[in-house]
Amino acid sequence: VNPVHHESGSGQPPPPGLVAADPLLRVRDLTVSFPQPGAGRVTVVQGVSLDVAKGEILGLVGESGSGKSVTAMSLLGLVPDPGRVAASAVELDGRELTGLSFEELRKVRGGAIGVVFQEPIASLNPAYTVGDQVAEVLREHEGLSRAQARARVVELFEQVHIPEPDKRIRDYPHQFSGGMAQRVMIAMALACRPRLLVADEPTTALDVTVQGQVLDLLLELRAETGMSILLITHDLGVVADVADRVAVMYAGQIVEGGPTEDVFRRPAHPYTEGLLASLP
Ligand code: ADP
Ligand code: MG
Repeated sequence: VNPVHHESGSGQPPPPGLVAADPLLRVRDLTVSFPQPGAGRVTVVQGVSLDVAKGEILGLVGESGSGKSVTAMSLLGLVPDPGRVAASAVELDGRELTGLSFEELRKVRGGAIGVVFQEPIASLNPAYTVGDQVAEVLREHEGLSRAQARARVVELFEQVHIPEPDKRIRDYPHQFSGGMAQRVMIAMALACRPRLLVADEPTTALDVTVQGQVLDLLLELRAETGMSILLITHDLGVVADVADRVAVMYAGQIVEGGPTEDVFRRPAHPYTEGLLASLP
């Protein structure tokens, strides 16, 4: 695991549409490279700069392989060695995260950032009940007792609208549908009341009708908690429905960004035009 190293870089500002006045997350010049067998290193994320405003849903959209997940993992300090991460700034609510060791990063990030991935069932341990797995997060990070954790898990399951939460906490991951399992993952991500939720393709593995329900849930939770959401997807339809602003990523770079409506109405980059043209 690799902390973000400070690098003066080009200091390139983000596209004007991706600047926020008092951002929750501020990223400048994020660059990530991996060694390539026999050919030095390959840069997969290059000079990414963006702000996530407080309470906003920022959609990070781009085709598969464009560098969206690596960008997200870098922000979380999760890029595996020998990946190299550099940035001139990564700040969470004004706190600089570059240069921190993984342990320090873990502490600062603490409960401030929650994460949801594409495959909910694969993210859960098949050998434990879902209730125990969410409770474990609460016991570890919030220092709750067994009874307190259990009560809070039921509350979290209610918050994400899992029916019969008292019963469902005793079920194992395989007993959940994809949509319900993703609700469990969202409940787990909410356990420490994060200010930022990073959702990496949270609906990609789900049936279309269920996708809409999970997106509605994210909108509802944002309204309820005021948290910000970095919503990563290859699916422009997903950002069209829920993102306040959108950043378009292509070949490791942000090629344009701004309020979703503006980008959809007047795409500035040929890649975005192509993406929009392929929308049903
Ligand atoms: P996206 O999420 O947009 O589909 P990724 O961020 O996962 O794309 O990947 C961007 C590029 O980085 C891809 O070319 C991928 O092969 C490469 N990549 C991702 N993780 C690693 C890794 N651990 N080692 C080497 N290359 C990687
Ligand atoms: Mg990805």
